[in-house]
Amino acid sequence: MPGRSSGWSGRHDGSLTVGGIPVERLAARVGGTPFFAYDRELIGRRVAAVRAALPGEIELSYAVKANPMPALLQHMSGLVDGFDVASALEMRHALDTPVPPGRVSFAGPGKTVEELTQAVAAGVTVELESELEIARVRATSRALGVPARVALRVNPDFTVRGSGMRLGGGPQQFGVDSERVPEVLASLAGAEFDFQGFHVFAGSQNLHADSLCEAQRRTAELVLGFAWAAPGPVRYVNLGGGFGIPYSHRDRPLALEPIGENLAELVDRVIRPRLPEARIVVELGRYLVGEAGVYVTRVVDRKVSRGKTFVVVDGGLHHQLAASGNFGQVIRRNYPIAVGNRMDDPAEETVTVVGCLCTPLDLLGDDVALPMPEVGDLIVLFQAGAYGLTASPTAFLSHPTPAEVLV
Ligand SMILES: *Cc1c(COP(=O)(O)O)cnc(C)c1O
Repeated sequence: MPGRSSGWSGRHDGSLTVGGIPVERLAARVGGTPFFAYDRELIGRRVAAVRAALPGEIELSYAVKANPMPALLQHMSGLVDGFDVASALEMRHALDTPVPPGRVSFAGPGKTVEELTQAVAAGVTVELESELEIARVRATSRALGVPARVALRVNPDFTVRGSGMRLGGGPQQFGVDSERVPEVLASLAGAEFDFQGFHVFAGSQNLHADSLCEAQRRTAELVLGFAWAAPGPVRYVNLGGGFGIPYSHRDRPLALEPIGENLAELVDRVIRPRLPEARIVVELGRYLVGEAGVYVTRVVDRKVSRGKTFVVVDGGLHHQLAASGNFGQVIRRNYPIAVGNRMDDPAEETVTVVGCLCTPLDLLGDDVALPMPEVGDLIVLFQAGAYGLTASPTAFLSHPTPAEVLV
């Protein structure tokens, strides 16, 4: 069923609704198509589901790069415990929310002296990614006369099976190789550093609970093995995340329950007895927001070429690169798609939905079964709440940047 329309449940008179508003009405409110719409209630429900499944003392951090819309961050600040940021602007937007600076962590390779200065001045936790970065943070701390709040990002000596994107294990630009950690920890002694603990992020977009459980167990063991060499008590253990969401009809949603049970046991039996002061953090991006967003486009043209019907919409890969299959995917699979103003009509035609860019890569739905989309209909792409607008080449072909609304 290539044209499946995801689990999105809001409907009114045959129309898809976002935040209770029918999409055609929302398009009028926004001022036109294409646009992204994020449903605040769905985000709230998703965070609540994660909280219910994970042990109560696990802190939840939102990885801002998944969707950095400032209004969404404000909404999220009332739901999660902290933010993980990856640039100075993400950090500024995170600091504009009521989340305290100490609950913001700044990860990522290649942080500049200017970015590090802003982070140390703000009092966010700098996740140290290299030895040169450590030297820069020491100098920054001296220049500002404040201790830098830091954690060491560790590149683990294991890989996680089933991750769509691997960020740990083997050679990596992220973090310090685990075998070098004791030596590097020795360099963090001194008044320049307010040492918090460790961060390990091994991979992304994983739909296998057993792999994630194993990764969390191995991460906890890895971190415990370094505690003796730490310059002070370990007060922060960021176990990473990597919780995936289903993007195609072949994907099964991740089971949270086994992850929660595994974490409860890890916390009680392994981490807590040895690191009584540690805040234990799980950081999630797409899992919290990915399924709460849609990308809404309008049909501009319909044409038949040598027997194949093309539906051309006013959006494309310049806004939603991932749906075109060009955001690191090995095999292109259709994202869930629907005619948003005619949700109750039966699928009676197989069409190929393409964007308005002059490239064959701009493919949004390949041979999808839809209810005969006509010019003017709204084509909605689901799973668009994460890595959509800001992960797409918006300047490519110089079309206007679409609106984003949180409803
Ligand atoms: C990107 C990133 C995340 C979020 O990944 P998702 O797949 O969106 O959950 C979490 N932590 C770090 C360090 C990241 O770089």
